Amino acid sequence: MKLRLAIVGAGPAGIYAADILLKYERAFDVSIDLFEQLPAPYGLVRYGVAPDHPRIKGIITALREVLDRGDIRIFGNVLYGRDITLDDLKKHYHAVIFATGSVHDAALDIPGIELPGSYGAADFVSWYDGHPDYPRTWPLEAESVAVVGNGNVALDVARILAKHPEDLLPTEIPDNVFEGLKASPVTDVHVFGRRGPMQVKFTPLELRELGELRDVDMIVYDEDFDYDEASKRAIESNKQVLVIDKVLGQWRQREVGQASRRLHLHFYAKPLEVVGDEHGITAFRYERTEPDGQGGVRGTGEIREVPVQAVYRAVGYFGSPLPGIPFDKKHGVVPNHEGQVLDKDNRIVPGVYATGWIKRGPVGLIGHTKSDAMETISHLVKDQASWWSPAEPDEDAIPALLAERGVAWTDLDGWHRLDAHEMALGEPHGRARIKVVPRDEMVRISRD
Ligand SMILES: Cc1cc2nc3c(=O)[nH]c(=O)nc-3n(C[C@H](O)[C@H](O)[C@H](O)COP(=O)(O)OP(=O)(O)OC[C@H]3O[C@@H](n4cnc5c(N)ncnc54)[C@H](O)[C@@H]3O)c2cc1C
Repeated sequence: MKLRLAIVGAGPAGIYAADILLKYERAFDVSIDLFEQLPAPYGLVRYGVAPDHPRIKGIITALREVLDRGDIRIFGNVLYGRDITLDDLKKHYHAVIFATGSVHDAALDIPGIELPGSYGAADFVSWYDGHPDYPRTWPLEAESVAVVGNGNVALDVARILAKHPEDLLPTEIPDNVFEGLKASPVTDVHVFGRRGPMQVKFTPLELRELGELRDVDMIVYDEDFDYDEASKRAIESNKQVLVIDKVLGQWRQREVGQASRRLHLHFYAKPLEVVGDEHGITAFRYERTEPDGQGGVRGTGEIREVPVQAVYRAVGYFGSPLPGIPFDKKHGVVPNHEGQVLDKDNRIVPGVYATGWIKRGPVGLIGHTKSDAMETISHLVKDQASWWSPAEPDEDAIPALLAERGVAWTDLDGWHRLDAHEMALGEPHGRARIKVVPRDEMVRISRD
């Protein structure tokens, strides 16, 4: 018996799932095909993790080692739902795992959010990380910018906006991104969080990094540090919170005023409105909140405004529905029990599994996708009796099908060619790589 498995999505979740299954103690052989809509694998590690985080980008080395073993076939530049459908998968495989992640911004429902100059963090991240499906240029015209959110993505966006672009040059940022950032007139980046400094979602490492930016002053406001009992308890009981308190405390003592750019952290600020009109944004309006004594906050009724010309909302990511597969519109995930996909009556859908952010929602680090994959794979292996019975499990059927449909798919050798090409582009400039951005160019280099 041989399990023919399709995995859709070659981000960390999909690659870890393949790796775990191949190493799993099982009574059957396995052959895995990995479908990825982009011409390059690694998902948000390539197209989400910030370019100036080389240590995290380095996880790609471990993921590449899994693919380079050669026991997983890759079909890149293949979009599930268009190039390959659920019916195709049922005809050629015993089961499918969806590992399609979340790429879009969650909504922030306040007046003015749709004005020109108001952006989603996910779109901006896709631009600065050179995602092929996003415009090559980004309108960086604002001197003062608001970033709404208190997670790591908000800090990534604020850092990339405030950082002097020359300091990004050693990284893999594409040329168009460097040129765009160089032309930015930004002087002030304001980050707004609804809750207090001890209830933030970002991690100490990301926070501390902001204080190391060259020629950027960190500005925090004394009024935000009048801690209530819940905040004091959080500092005593949680090491991460303690470190955050220390970092912020050091910034409160620092002398500021010399740097040409400033990064402000505003806490207890509930977003109310993006102020402006069809010609652009003039301010960000918020309500001052205060601790409610339970670790949460309540509004004070005091309304404030900070003049800005652009707003970035970093309030979370949201998954996209997959044709033919149940979808939970409220949470942006595929409904599931430990990775076994459920229909609207909460019954297990045979042969269909989920892992990673599309299974769990867009929270957690890359490492979490490994334990996720382990859980999903353990069910897949146990469920042998309910797998599909494919009419044509032959491995040659898939390349034949894609060729017949005129799909220009890329494979592992193609990715190696693109990888080598990007590294060669970087070499004369002393950079590890320069990313190729246009999809057609990525495909052309891969299929050369
Ligand atoms: C801005 C940002 C910064 C981050 N920084 C860090 C960090 O520093 N450290 C850390 O540990 N974690 C970080 N994370 C979290 C990390 O990226 C996620 O935990 C992880 O990538 C989730 O993995 P995944 O495989 O579920 O999803 P993804 O990485 O999103 O992979 C999903 C893949 O599926 C593909 N796909 C989607 N739909 C289809 C389709 N219909 N057909 C075919 N393929 C499809 C996508 O193209 C993508 O390649 C960051 C996340 C973001 C958003």
